[in-house]
Amino acid sequence: MSGITIALSKGRIFEETLPLLAAAGIVPAEDPEKSRKLIIGTNRDDVRVVIVRASDVPTYVQYGAADLGIAGKDVLLEHGGIGLYQPLDLNIAKCRMCVAAPAGFDYAAAVRSGARLRIATKYIAVAREHFAAKGVHVDLIKLYGSMELAPLAGLAEAIVDLVSSGGTLKANNLVEVEEIMNISSRLVVNQAALKMKRDLLQPVIAAIEGAIK
Ligand code: ATP
Ligand code: MG
Repeated sequence: MSGITIALSKGRIFEETLPLLAAAGIVPAEDPEKSRKLIIGTNRDDVRVVIVRASDVPTYVQYGAADLGIAGKDVLLEHGGIGLYQPLDLNIAKCRMCVAAPAGFDYAAAVRSGARLRIATKYIAVAREHFAAKGVHVDLIKLYGSMELAPLAGLAEAIVDLVSSGGTLKANNLVEVEEIMNISSRLVVNQAALKMKRDLLQPVIAAIEGAIK
């Protein structure tokens, strides 16, 4: 493909990316929430958007099926970032990754006692590194969603999940017991495309950079 292909996920990333793309003179022709199309044209003949699952964005860009993409730091850390140039923190889709446990569970005491904790999470790589650095013994249980349910159903003592307002934790009687890191979304670029299509990509990257809040 000679033009530019941009990989985006639906939902908050798409919404918060629109103004950044607009600053680069790129306006998607359709709203992916309304259309079922997975390839969406733009006002520019040489730019198209592919709609993928949030966690698949780095994969599309890594293999060059997309030249650019926007993905959360959470997703990028799990992916590993191979083959990706990450020039910009876009300061969008902000939240934090944390450890949460049922309000009645004394997490600090459990850690001090050296007990082995079962941790349910979608973020195995980040969780492994976090607990290893703290010397906490854990069994990591991989889930694909609704982590909040795991402690309530007796699957795990605690979870590692993303939190923004804390409303979902609260609704499920969970409390944040440790903050792991702040999360925002980044622009990712295929390294080979950046060399081969520099004339096309560089102005887009520069315009996006200029529009970051
Ligand atoms: P899927 O819904 O396809 O399983 P997902 O839940 O990771 O994937 P989104 O909910 O659209 O997809 O989240 C996309 C990105 O937005 C996440 O990777 C993360 O960086 C960020 N994010 C997730 N939850 C929040 C939140 N509560 N507030 C702000 N940003 C968030
Ligand atoms: Mg989601």
